[in-house]
Amino acid sequence: MSLSMALPVSFEFFPPKTPEGADKLRAVRQQLYVRRPQFCSVTYGAGGSTQAGTFNTVREILAEGVSAASHFSCIGATRASVREQLAELKAMGVTRLVALRGDLPSGYGLGGEFQYASDLVAFIRTETGRDFHIEVAAYPEVHPQAKSPEADLQAFATKVRAGADSAITQYFFNSDAYFRFVDDAHKLGADVPVVPGIMPITGASQLLRFSDACGAEVPRWIRLRLQAFGDDAASIRAFGLDVVTDLCDQLRNAGVPGLHFYTMNQSAVTLEICERLGL
Ligand code: FAD
Repeated sequence: MSLSMALPVSFEFFPPKTPEGADKLRAVRQQLYVRRPQFCSVTYGAGGSTQAGTFNTVREILAEGVSAASHFSCIGATRASVREQLAELKAMGVTRLVALRGDLPSGYGLGGEFQYASDLVAFIRTETGRDFHIEVAAYPEVHPQAKSPEADLQAFATKVRAGADSAITQYFFNSDAYFRFVDDAHKLGADVPVVPGIMPITGASQLLRFSDACGAEVPRWIRLRLQAFGDDAASIRAFGLDVVTDLCDQLRNAGVPGLHFYTMNQSAVTLEICERLGL
C-alpha cells in the first residue's frame, strides 16, 4: 500500500446556525465522505453556546455511518454540567472527543470549575475511564496567551500526562514549527500522535484577520502575494491550493500521522487538495 493510501484524513465542521446552513452542510459532508475520513469533528462554542447545534450535527454524522468527534470546551463549565454532557455524548454513541479549554468572549467572567484543558482531560478520564479517545489542541507556533514557548510545551505535556491519546494542531504554514514542536514534545515524554491541522486558503482578508487572533503566522511572502491579488478570487484560490497542497505533501513525506482539515463547512478546496495529493 502506498503512503498516500494509508494517510488518514479527518474533517472539521462548525455547527450550522440556520436550517439552510444545515442542509448545505449535509451536502458538503456527502461530498467529503468520498475521501473516507477517519472521523469528522464538530466545534463547540465556548461556554456551551452551540451545544445543541454541535450535538445535533454529531448525531447526524453518526447516523450517516461516519465516526464523529465532538469538540468539548470546559471554560465556564462545572463538574456537574460536564458530567451530564459526557453521559449524553456516551448515550449518543460518541467515542471521540476534542477536549479544549475554549475562549469566552471578552466581558464574561471566567467562573467555572475548570481552568485549563488538562483539568478537563483528567476529569474525563476519571469519570469515564477509556470510554472516549481524547484529542487535545497543540500549538506549533505557540498559543497566543502562553507565558513562554517553554511554558506552552509544558502545558501540552501536562494534557498528555492527564490522559490525552492524540493531538490536532492549530493550523500553520511553517512546517518547521510543527516538526520542532513534535520533537520537543517527545523530549518531554509527550509522544502521542500530533496530527497537523490544515487550513485551506479560500480568501485573503478573513484568513489574515483570523490568523492574527489565533496566533497562527501567515508568512510574509504568502501575505504579500494574497494582498497583491486584491479581489481576484480565482488567483487567490489557485495560489492557495498550490501553497496548501505543497505543505500537505511535505508533511506527508515526513510521515505525519494524518491530516485534519479545517473545512469551514465547504468541500471544494479541501476535496481538490485531497485529490491532488491522491488521498
Ligand atoms: P489549554 O491547553 O488549557 O491552554 C490555554 C493556555 O493556558 C495556553 O496559553 C497554555 O500555555 C496555558 N496553560 C495551560 N496549562 C497551564 C498551566 N498549568 N499553567 C499555566 N498556563 C497553562 N475553541 C472553541 O471554542 N471551540 C472549539 O471547538 C475549538 N476547537 C479547536 C480545535 C483545535 C484543533 C484547536 C487547535 C483549537 C480549537 N479551539 C476551539 C480554540 C481553543 O479553544 C483556544 O485556542 C483556547 O484559547 C485554548 O484552548 P486549549 O484547549 O488549547 O487550552
